[in-house]
Amino acid sequence: MRGTIFNIMRFAVNDGPGIRTTVFLKGCPLSCWWCHNPEGLNPDIQVTYRAERCILCGSCIDRCPQHALQLDGTMIKRDDLRCLICGSCADECYLDARQVVGREIDAEELLAEVLKDRKFYDESGGGVTFSGGEPLLQHEFLVEVLEACKAHGLHTAIETSGLATREQLDDVRRWTDLFLFDVKLIDEERHKTFTGWSNVRILENLNHLVSCGASVVARVPLIPGVNDDDASVNDVGRTLAGLGGIRDVHLLPFHAGAAAKYQGLGMSFRMADARALPQQRIAEIEHTLRSHGLTVHRGG
Ligand code: SF4
Ligand code: SF4
Repeated sequence: MRGTIFNIMRFAVNDGPGIRTTVFLKGCPLSCWWCHNPEGLNPDIQVTYRAERCILCGSCIDRCPQHALQLDGTMIKRDDLRCLICGSCADECYLDARQVVGREIDAEELLAEVLKDRKFYDESGGGVTFSGGEPLLQHEFLVEVLEACKAHGLHTAIETSGLATREQLDDVRRWTDLFLFDVKLIDEERHKTFTGWSNVRILENLNHLVSCGASVVARVPLIPGVNDDDASVNDVGRTLAGLGGIRDVHLLPFHAGAAAKYQGLGMSFRMADARALPQQRIAEIEHTLRSHGLTVHRGG
């Protein structure tokens, strides 16, 4: 089976225990305002364009077999209807102003990639983490890779938004040692506003995983103006503490580092003007969550 990924990050230390390889799968049903991996949203392979890197040399225009590119003022415009995402223009661009995001890979090839760093996993208590996008969107491929990883004795983790069917979750659960489960907002209406989806199924899935005895770490992105107020923080604290089976919470403070990626994809970044939370406020939020009996770490 083949899947579509957009990155393989080796020597990751924030995506579960020890030294890990994190595999980013393409495609996500949510559209969180603060998403820092917008290249993971669309399930298809894409070609990006960073105008600030482009010197308008025209090489990509000459190379395009579809005649899909043309000079338009101070940038090179692409005709989406003509473009077949062949990647030739990206191959041609030595400044990386054009880049292909995503590639297909089969489970065997991915396993071979992951196994390259096996000795680091063994020495550090690490393993492999599947992230995205939402990895469960490609759950059949994910199950095949997870099963292969477990057959080789690797520790496996999934970073998930939790938006999946119960069957999909149970399929992957059998082969997953740790779930890094995003908990963004407890208020359903606010969740809909800022992510595009209700959180009812997400919270049911979280409850289900904990009830089944799965190992779960809650990951809370701290987003200014979205969930950094006392009421939202206490809602998260109460909900997680009430589940009983979750102790560890990872706080992931917002940063605006993804702005250039949005630009390259031709997407608007709704948090472009947001600023990082002051350290003092993050410390207060940590304190509040600890008051609910949770163990709080900053970062992954
Ligand atoms: S090849 Fe690269 S630098 Fe040259 S025009 Fe195309 S995108 Fe710009
Ligand atoms: S991806 Fe291929 S078809 Fe699309 S603009 Fe680039 S060279 Fe042309």
